[in-house]
Amino acid sequence: MKPTLVLVGRPNVGKSTLFNRLTRSRDAIVADIPGLTRDRHYGHGRLGLKPYLVVDTGGFEPVVKSGILHAMARQTLQAVDEADVVLFIVDGRQGLASQDKIIADQLRKTGRKIILVVNKAEGMPYSTAAVEFHELGLGTPCVVSALHGEHLGELIDFALEDY
Ligand code: GDP
Ligand code: MG
Repeated sequence: MKPTLVLVGRPNVGKSTLFNRLTRSRDAIVADIPGLTRDRHYGHGRLGLKPYLVVDTGGFEPVVKSGILHAMARQTLQAVDEADVVLFIVDGRQGLASQDKIIADQLRKTGRKIILVVNKAEGMPYSTAAVEFHELGLGTPCVVSALHGEHLGELIDFALEDY
């Protein structure tokens, strides 16, 4: 069975950009299950001999309790439920947001393996990008640039280390 990597994070942190990189194509959306999974996209990728499935989720809005955003949050949690590894993406340029802490707490409760990914960190020293995210309590972050394709091999290597 291919491991499933699920991309989670607040809007605009770069989930879809990372998805496109990890599936090596803008057209890699191979399954878009109608109805419930309206905002979940599935794509296949491979690192060396190791294949994996990537799931892009929509906005994670745990504080919104009604309407469409709530449905999206439920979907995201559903996707997390199916994850072998969750890639929790934060924005290294904006820094730590209060919503990141809420998401981190929700993710921790799921008991899944979580990798903290500090994105948009092109041109930033590792320690500068990573330092303020340590308080999320999710271990050592991976610092990447999805847009520029920096450190993505290391990220996937780390994500797949048990597979
Ligand atoms: P999503 O809402 O989490 O799916 O985020 P998107 O993938 O749509 O990206 C939101 C914005 O951030 C877009 O303008 C991207 O080009 C930009 N972005 C994504 N990754 C990076 C990155 O590594 N560096 C920079 N500077 N911008 C990025
Ligand atoms: Mg997106």
